[in-house]
Amino acid sequence: AAQEGFDASEIEGALEEAGHGPLPRLAVVGRPNVGKSTLVNRIIGRREAVVQDKPGVTRDRVTYEAEWAGRRFKVVDTGGWEQDVLGLDASVAAQAEYAIEASDAVVFVVDATVGATDTDEAVVKLLRRAGKPVVLCANKVDGQSGEADAAALWSLGLGEPHPVSALHGRGTGDMLDAVLEALPEAPAQTFGGPGIGGPRRIALIGRPNVGKSSLLNKVAGEERVVVNELAGTTRDPVDELIELGGVTWKFVDTAGIRRRVHLQEGADYYASLRTAAAVEKAEVAVILIDCSESISVQDQRIITMAVEAGRAMVIAFNKWDTLDEERRYYLEREIETELGQIAWAPRVNVSARTGRHMEKLVPAIETALAGWETRIPTGRLNAFLGEIVASNPHPVRGGKQPRILFGTQAGTKPPRFVLFASGFLEAGYRRFIERRLREEFGFEGTPIHISVRVRE
Ligand code: GDP
Ligand code: GDP
Repeated sequence: AAQEGFDASEIEGALEEAGHGPLPRLAVVGRPNVGKSTLVNRIIGRREAVVQDKPGVTRDRVTYEAEWAGRRFKVVDTGGWEQDVLGLDASVAAQAEYAIEASDAVVFVVDATVGATDTDEAVVKLLRRAGKPVVLCANKVDGQSGEADAAALWSLGLGEPHPVSALHGRGTGDMLDAVLEALPEAPAQTFGGPGIGGPRRIALIGRPNVGKSSLLNKVAGEERVVVNELAGTTRDPVDELIELGGVTWKFVDTAGIRRRVHLQEGADYYASLRTAAAVEKAEVAVILIDCSESISVQDQRIITMAVEAGRAMVIAFNKWDTLDEERRYYLEREIETELGQIAWAPRVNVSARTGRHMEKLVPAIETALAGWETRIPTGRLNAFLGEIVASNPHPVRGGKQPRILFGTQAGTKPPRFVLFASGFLEAGYRRFIERRLREEFGFEGTPIHISVRVRE
């Protein structure tokens, strides 16, 4: 009776939408100026503007949601790359490497008016090695006369070149059809996929110099690190299996942590891309913060990235050995003001240098993963919602009082809820519901999604 007003298909649709698993990921790679950003804008329908970057401006947004022919996917954009950090070839290769690593299929963009360059050929080698499906986009084919230029790109050996004008939209529909064919229904390493039963995946992330490689060394042992460094800087990003607390964990993209180029100026975007790639591949993000310094905008961005990706999360305050009483006082206040939004994340205070509290890391990670996987039975959820509605009804607005009629958990990893209501629920009330859900059911270490369906 509580479901009155919503028909079955409407409920089903809402659940399907809210409960979707992780989306497959498409990377758009290619040299600078071939039109990657223009193409990404076209693919995402400009719903989120990809801004043209000025050199030196931090660009931290690298993944976007897109939809074509009713299918949703994520787009990993690499257009913000700064080529002068490493030199053209190395930087394009490194950029492509991360993007490919973080994706399930790749659109390789070539400027058809220029033809295949040596740099393009170098990317082709990477693509071959990665073995992911590739859709070749021959861009800047603005008219019929460019079709021959596009056909010349058969020479790359990547199959059919799709002639496209990212600028005017010409050919993008056909190319996107090919993209959908190349993309799997769900991303690799999904939680119900082949990875099940395998080691849980951890991304160790944080801005440069917070101590990521030191922490990794501490937990993995020094020798392996030396071996990795000898292998050089152009190697594939690797995941590393590390045993902690008697359990084997997979630390994703540890090569990226060990690569030191991120210390160079202007490489912010590189760090962002690496972080996004690691987060995409992981189930839980361990976010390292340097407690000897003020919590920065960059720390916040990294946290936002992990929250938006819907990953379980642990906050580790590193360099605890450096803390004096005064700094500690200010740190606690900063945590309250700056990190209030993620008060649900378990916190550990560690020192990669001394090894302090390393043993607390695993329990915190396990707690976060448990929260991330929690499922509340519908009966219990509705008993709880009923109590809330009775004890704390939504404020009356314009003579009307919106009511939550019923709710259900549509998915986990992270937990996703759909509430069906008789009217629009204000943001404040939704935050209140989230707070009460956390008080009642835990959800420690996980973001939770709540969407509301209003009866028309
Ligand atoms: P990115 O560096 O690969 O991200 O390239 P951008 O998307 O920033 O594009 C580089 C330049 O190429 C810009 O001036 C675009 O307007 C232009 N461009 C992109 N796509 C097309 C296209 O299909 N046709 C033409 N004529 N120009 C394009
Ligand atoms: P990454 O850039 O995040 O990988 O940071 P690194 O691991 O390279 O560390 C940056 C600097 O911080 C190095 O000089 C480390 O020795 C230092 N460091 C890392 N962890 C600690 C810690 O727990 N205590 C102190 N005092 N210094 C640390």
